[in-house]
Parts: sequence; structure tokens; C-alpha cells
Amino acid sequence: MTTIHIPDDQSMRAFGADLGRILPAAAVIYLRGELGAGKTTLVRGLLRGLGYSGAVKSPTYTLLEEYELGQRHIYHLDLYRLADPEELEFLGLRDWLEGDVILIFEWPEMGKGVAPEADLEIDIQYDCTARNIMLVGYSGAGKALVLALEPKKES
Ligand code: ADP
Ligand code: MG
Repeated sequence: MTTIHIPDDQSMRAFGADLGRILPAAAVIYLRGELGAGKTTLVRGLLRGLGYSGAVKSPTYTLLEEYELGQRHIYHLDLYRLADPEELEFLGLRDWLEGDVILIFEWPEMGKGVAPEADLEIDIQYDCTARNIMLVGYSGAGKALVLALEPKKES
């Protein structure tokens, strides 16, 4: 497991942007952490890193915000208010999975059993005003992302 220290909001966006720049065409990302931990802030950076320059709304109330960037389709979900994981099916989950998509889940545990398995899991922990990010790669692609993002050791 890789831990990264994030001193402030700007660093969280910068980290998200670094991740966005190296994302493959398809990926499933789980974002864990309490309310206000910075999950949506990270996604704002990630979309910038992918080249999106518009406003990034939190999907807290809408469950889903969708972005189309060239060939890329990005689905940003916040499952906090999901009553039942099956609701994901009604949102159209199966259809999205037909193509290459980037799926980002806040509160993925609320979609347990229905949300696809994560390539990469990001766990954000409070450390006063700073945050610590724990990265775990599950698939080959996820592990490659972790390797690319982990702080380089001095030699
Ligand atoms: P979540 O989606 O996890 O509920 P948000 O990203 O919506 O959280 O909100 C995080 C809030 O915390 C934002 O207002 C952000 O500016 C603030 N913040 C302060 N310090 C940090 C930090 N080190 N990393 C991320 N966000 C931070
Ligand atoms: Mg959020």
C-alpha cells in the first residue's frame, strides 16, 4: 500500500490531475473517506488532468455527473444517497460498461454487489487540515497507476 501526504486543497487537486493525466481508456476507481475528506475535490483535479475545463459539480444530489471528452466517457457517481445497490442498474450501469469508460465512485460500499470491481482504490483520511491518501491497485492497470503515482524514493 502506498501513502501520500496531501497538505491542502490545492495539493489534492494536483494529485487528482496527475492521476487524470495517466488514466487508461477504461478504469474503475473507488474513492473512500468521510464527508468532506476531499473525494470530490480530487475528482475536480482528475477531470482537469483529463483536459476538462468546465465546472465540476458534486454528484451528491444527482447521484451521477457525466462527462464526454473526445472519445472518453467519464461517469462520476456519489452513491451516498443510494437506497439500494440495484438502483445503479436503473441509472444505466450495464449500458455504460459496454464501451471504454472511466467510472469513479464516491461511497462505493453503497453499491456493493452491483458496482464493478475497482482497478484502483483511493482512501482519504483526515490529518487535521491535511489528508493522507492510501492507494491500492487491484488489477494490472490499477497497480501500474499506483507505481506511477507513488512518491519516488531518493537514491
Ligand atoms: P467529499 O467529496 O469527500 O465529501 P469535498 O471534496 O466535497 O469532500 O470537500 C472537501 C473540502 O475540504 C473542500 O471544501 C476542500 O476545499 C477542503 N479541504 C481542506 N483541506 C483539504 C485537503 N488537504 N485535501 C482536500 N480537501 C481539503
Ligand atoms: Mg463528494
